[in-house]
Amino acid sequence: MTTESGEAKGLQTVLEERGFDTKGIRAKCSPVCPFENEKCCLARIFNRQEDVINQVSMLEELITKAGHHCIFLPKFHCELNPIEMYWGYAKYRYRGVFKNTFADAKAAVLSSLQSCPLDTLRHFINRTWRFMSAYRQGLRGKVAEWAVKNSAHTHCLKACNACH
Ligand SMILES: [Zn+2]
Repeated sequence: MTTESGEAKGLQTVLEERGFDTKGIRAKCSPVCPFENEKCCLARIFNRQEDVINQVSMLEELITKAGHHCIFLPKFHCELNPIEMYWGYAKYRYRGVFKNTFADAKAAVLSSLQSCPLDTLRHFINRTWRFMSAYRQGLRGKVAEWAVKNSAHTHCLKACNACH
């Protein structure tokens, strides 16, 4: 992908080195590639290469080397991310604490992050599972929200802070 001096070779050079005929193919479609087209532009051809598809990101590599699991969640779907719910819970608790100094604020951050009970964390994870289930059944938008909310109340055996 780079020259001996460390500069990027560019899409055309990389693809030609891999045996592709790049003559007459534009670099990238604008604004987006047409649906169901595999050879519309150099960028599309490049991104469909097996080694590119299976390339692990530097972030994932760093996290894995540190002995952790790296899980990428769908973008723009906070309902599928229990960490977002936990974060919202902690922020709500944080706002409720009186803070007079920066040291107070730092202490409030830690106590807010620690304040979420295990049952509530489980509730967040179960809520995510219910949304996944609703989406798998083809439900979308308000209908999915309605299904998740109603299944939560039928399955919730005791009142918890998160849903009542
Ligand atoms: Zn394209």
